[in-house]
Amino acid sequence: MDLSYILNELGEERADYFNAVSPPIVQTSNFAFRKVEELAAAFEDEMSTYLYSRGINPTVDILRKKLAALDGAEDALVFNSGAAAIFAAVLANIKSGDHIISVRKPYTWAQRMFDVVLPRFNVTTTYIDGTSLANFENAIRPNTSLIYLESPNSWTYELQDLKAVAALARPRGIVTICDNSYCTPLFQRPVELGIDISLQSATKYIGGHSDVVAGVIAGSAAMMKKIFDSEYLNIGSGIQPFNAWLLIRGLRTLPIRLQQVAANTEKVLAYLKQHPKVEKVIFPMDPSFPQYELAKKQMGNAFGLLTIVYRTDSRQEIVRFCESLQHIMMAVSWGGHESLIIPKCAGIRPEHFRSDREDHRMIRLYIGLEAADYIIADLDQGFSG
Ligand SMILES: *Cc1c(COP(=O)(O)O)cnc(C)c1O
Repeated sequence: MDLSYILNELGEERADYFNAVSPPIVQTSNFAFRKVEELAAAFEDEMSTYLYSRGINPTVDILRKKLAALDGAEDALVFNSGAAAIFAAVLANIKSGDHIISVRKPYTWAQRMFDVVLPRFNVTTTYIDGTSLANFENAIRPNTSLIYLESPNSWTYELQDLKAVAALARPRGIVTICDNSYCTPLFQRPVELGIDISLQSATKYIGGHSDVVAGVIAGSAAMMKKIFDSEYLNIGSGIQPFNAWLLIRGLRTLPIRLQQVAANTEKVLAYLKQHPKVEKVIFPMDPSFPQYELAKKQMGNAFGLLTIVYRTDSRQEIVRFCESLQHIMMAVSWGGHESLIIPKCAGIRPEHFRSDREDHRMIRLYIGLEAADYIIADLDQGFSG
C-alpha cells in the first residue's frame, strides 16, 4: 500500500463527517442502539461494533487501520502507553509455569514485568545476548512460550536477526514480540520478517511532538482479537480518542520528520566522531558498529538516538557538560521535535561512579528537528565550556 495513501486517506471516510479533512474526535464513552438484536450482537463480538470506548472507538479505528497498514499487518491495537502495550502483549501469550526468553536489557518496564510481576505467577525469564542466534536456541526449554526482542535497543543498539529468530520460534509454537520503537515501521517491519507482534512506543516518533504517551501493537487479526477480547478490555488501557487524534496528526508528518532527524543525525555524528572529548560513538549505521552488516541488511536506516562515551576520568565533567547545554534539554523519552540528552551517570550514585567503566561515561543523545548547525554549536560550547 502506498505510504502517502496510508497517511493521508486510509481509514478516513470523510463523507461520514461533513467532508472534514481532519477526522472528528469522537469523545464519547458509549454508543446507543435501537434494536435489542444489535445490542446482543455487540455483546457477542465487541471488536466489530461500537459499544463502549474502552473497546472500539471511531477515532481510534482510523488510527488502527493506518498503523496496521504501516506495519504490513492485518490489524493493530493502540494503548495508553508503550508500557501498557508491552504488558498486554506479553500477558496474553503466557500462562503460569511458562518460560520467557528476553534480550538482555530490554526496555525498563518490560524488564520490571519479567523480574517483578511475572515471577509471582510462576513465569520465569532468561535474559540472553541476542546478537547470536545460538543463544536463543540454547535457551529454549519445553515450556518456553515467548521470545521478547528489542532491535535495536535504546542505549547500545544491539540487534537481533529478526527473520532468523522468527524462523526458530514459529515451528516450535513460541510467540515472538519485537519492540520496534527505534526504527518505526517506515524502516523495519518485524511482522513481514515473521515476528508475531510488532510493538512501538507511539510516544516517540508516531506522536513526534512530546505531547502524548501511547503504545501500539500490530500483528495477525487472530492475535489482535485474542488480545482485544481479554487483556485490552480487561486492563482497560486503550488509548483515548483525543490522544488517538494527536497520533493521526503525528502520522501526517512522520516521513518528513524522520528525514530531517536522519539528515541531522548524519551531521552530528560526523561532528562527534572527530571530537577529542568523545572516546567512542555507538550508532548502528556506523561502520564501527559490531553488527553494521546486519543493520544494513535489516533496517532501512538508523537515526535519532546515538550514544557517546565521554572521554574523562571525572563524573563532574560529564555533569558540567550536560548542565552547560543551552538548547539541548536533559529529559527522558525521545522521538519529539526537540533534541535531548541523558547521561548514564544520573542513574548511578556518585560514590559508585567508576571512570574506568565505559558504560558509566555514556551519554545518550536524541537528535531532533532543529537545524544541525544549531545542535552542533550547542554541543561544541558544552564540550569547551
Ligand atoms: C519509551 C519506550 C517504551 C515505553 O513506552 P511508553 O510510551 O513510555 O510507555 C518502550 N520501548 C522503548 C524502546 C521505549 O523507548
